[in-house]
Amino acid sequence: MADKHTNYRYNTGAKRVPWVSVGENYNAEDLVEVVKFLMQGEGKEYDEIIKNISKEVEKLDEISTPPGRLSLASEVSAVEEESNKFLGVDNSTLVTNCTAGFEIAYKYANLKPGDEVIVPAITFVSTMSYALSVGAKIVFADIDPITLNMDPRDVAKKITPKTKMIVPVHIGGYPVDIDPIMELAKKHNIVVLEDAAHAFGAKYKGRMVGTTGHFASFSFHEVKNITAFGEGGIVTTSVPEFKEYMKLSRFVGADFSKVIDKWCYDVVSIPGKTEPFVAVNYAPTEIQALGLRMQMKRIKDIIAARKAAVTYLNSRFAECDALIPQSIGNEDYEPTFHLYQLQIVPEKAGGDVQTFKKKLEEKSVTTIPHYAPLYHFSIMKDMGYDKDEIAKTCPVAEDLFANKFTHLPLYGLSQEQLDYMADMVLEVIDEMKQGK
Ligand SMILES: *Cc1c(COP(=O)(O)O)cnc(C)c1O
Repeated sequence: MADKHTNYRYNTGAKRVPWVSVGENYNAEDLVEVVKFLMQGEGKEYDEIIKNISKEVEKLDEISTPPGRLSLASEVSAVEEESNKFLGVDNSTLVTNCTAGFEIAYKYANLKPGDEVIVPAITFVSTMSYALSVGAKIVFADIDPITLNMDPRDVAKKITPKTKMIVPVHIGGYPVDIDPIMELAKKHNIVVLEDAAHAFGAKYKGRMVGTTGHFASFSFHEVKNITAFGEGGIVTTSVPEFKEYMKLSRFVGADFSKVIDKWCYDVVSIPGKTEPFVAVNYAPTEIQALGLRMQMKRIKDIIAARKAAVTYLNSRFAECDALIPQSIGNEDYEPTFHLYQLQIVPEKAGGDVQTFKKKLEEKSVTTIPHYAPLYHFSIMKDMGYDKDEIAKTCPVAEDLFANKFTHLPLYGLSQEQLDYMADMVLEVIDEMKQGK
């Protein structure tokens, strides 16, 4: 490697003895391992190419300089700028993952034991993890029977004087009808956090999803539409007076984005809605940011490809009266098509979705054991919740999960695989109708 130079966060000036920011740099051998990890293979040809790459990377090592920073530096700023442009906001903040982004919003709301948080019955557990961990009471809203999203009418019924937050989830990337939720929030002085884990690039009434609630957090975990090398999240706020605290909330209340002059840099508490809170560390790496930048360039094409697959599957299922296909959306609801949600109509299919899924598995089509209503999870019982009592307050979620919906694979399939899957779905329904 070329000479190390002083690039520490403090302004040390030019020195004969430098102090670098990165303790141990990555070398040629490390980088080749990364290439081998991201592009796996075996056999003679593969080994030969890797050997050549190793030689070339070693040469590169001799004439190149390592990055001065691996955490919270120019790549992180760059992806945040790109996200700002894409979403039309001014405070995108890259964090370790989407769940970390939620925590910033929960802390802003000064969530305390006994406060109530309304979440949809069907979502991923991390929507509510922080709220549950601080002893807030989770209240489950029932869902819309077609989109599976939180039903604003049920939210209205479940608001009490203790409700501090509402957390709508754009499940599968299908936008929640958020305007009525914002009206309720305004009336009752409630903070709205959008769980936009599936919804980077979705639009609601012409607005980007994630720009209407007080906070929104997007996920770039490996299973989502785009990823930041496996983990990542972007959190945004629309609360004007909180925007300047987003970066401080991500990293211990200190701002290291500029070179520091004073030995005693400032660490501040963060002003929450009613009282200050303490920020911890959700800082992402430069590598996460770089990975996300590359994939973010492809987001529109990815959503288009997903939409094409959904359109095709819907055309195959249109004739079948026992199937309700994934909603394609309209000009007010533009989804990201993260999941393909298929529902069966049990009375017409002659059986429920459990039978349907079992038969589909037998024909070698994967269905994912996804999205049981959260109050079915043992963590809720352990925390003192009564599953049966809550189930009575979410009849739509209960019926959908037990009898009607599943998700089908959607992306990265060949036309032949899509064809086969559509054929098998129709074949299974035929068999069920005939009582087989
Ligand atoms: C994936 C997911 C999350 C969590 O995202 P992470 O980036 O893994 O923290 C939150 N909510 C929903 C609905 C998800 O599917």
